[in-house]
Amino acid sequence: NFLSKACKEKGIPIKTNTQAAGFITESRDGKKTITGVRAVLNNAPIEFKANSGVIIATGGFTANQKLCSQLDPRLKNMKFTGSPCATGDIFKAVEEVGGQLKDLEEIQCNLGPVQKFSHRSGYHTDVKRHILVNNEGKRFVAEDGLRDVLRDAVLSQPEGEVFILVDSDGFQDLSSRFQQNGAASESLGYGWKANSVKELAEKMKVSPANLEEALSQYNAAVDSKKDVFGREAWMLVKKIEKPPFYATKARMAIHYTMGGIVIDTQARVLDKDSQPIEHLYAAGEATTGVHGTNRVGGNGILDAFVFGRIAGESAATHK
Ligand SMILES: Cc1cc2nc3c(=O)[nH]c(=O)nc-3n(C[C@H](O)[C@H](O)[C@H](O)COP(=O)(O)OP(=O)(O)OC[C@H]3O[C@@H](n4cnc5c(N)ncnc54)[C@H](O)[C@@H]3O)c2cc1C
Repeated sequence: NFLSKACKEKGIPIKTNTQAAGFITESRDGKKTITGVRAVLNNAPIEFKANSGVIIATGGFTANQKLCSQLDPRLKNMKFTGSPCATGDIFKAVEEVGGQLKDLEEIQCNLGPVQKFSHRSGYHTDVKRHILVNNEGKRFVAEDGLRDVLRDAVLSQPEGEVFILVDSDGFQDLSSRFQQNGAASESLGYGWKANSVKELAEKMKVSPANLEEALSQYNAAVDSKKDVFGREAWMLVKKIEKPPFYATKARMAIHYTMGGIVIDTQARVLDKDSQPIEHLYAAGEATTGVHGTNRVGGNGILDAFVFGRIAGESAATHK
């Protein structure tokens, strides 16, 4: 809203439902220069002239199941957490003008539901409040691990399915949306609530003895600040002991793509020789290199805003 208001005030038109499909180029002083964008609006081609430059801000390719599973076969048929428009369709056009793509195989996953994404419980969103167990009712990973560690650990469980567990305090601390999603997962048969750990285990169809052991070991680790799975001491602050207890089944979902278009510190798109392509800029999830192989939660918006602003400045000031 803030950004669209600012565009409106400055008389900058916003075209929605318009898919950028390619770049218009000219040779200036012997250099390939981007001078516009070819797009599609209502199935009809349309061109936009760009006096100062073109900024690519088309996001990642988490919804491109074909590409993601080619890059990492473990992601085959996996759901995605974001917009269905995150297809990376602009990459072809970037390559056509000589742009460099890198590290596409670095794909981040996050816990999602076993069915519709709109019903993901979000019980894992407060790391201090939850544990993960497998279908034997045993913990298998430090829940505060980096997202690639968690992805690999969850994908190595049978069927790639795990359970997220919170107690009454953890549930109360969730946003109302995630509480509602938890209730939705109960009605869909992959979420459970119970007044004892034993009863919860029976509903989850896991071994009650294992689940009780997992929770008592975890609660002891909160006291000792030493966790057998290596959870950090500052992530061992809340016991999971107050009924009712809640659990949902979860699977990994494709969440964020760290690879993409190579840019420099001025947000200029680089070619295969790492030289800037004249008047072509990129920012946000469409790019690569900012997060390495593991985006830390919260840094996606930061990246988009910081490099979006740099790209705008670069385009406005470049001669
Ligand atoms: C469920 C979820 C939760 C998240 N939570 C957080 C969080 O708490 N904190 C955080 O920092 N980050 C979070 N992220 C990541 C964050 O959303 C992204 O880092 C951020 O949205 C990237 O911004 P962007 O502008 O680069 O791309 P996007 O926000 O993806 O925007 C790209 C836009 O370009 C459009 N587009 C795509 N292709 C074309 C084309 N060819 N032509 C025209 N338009 C096109 C798309 O439709 C979209 O509107 C979350 C992501 C998800 C999926």
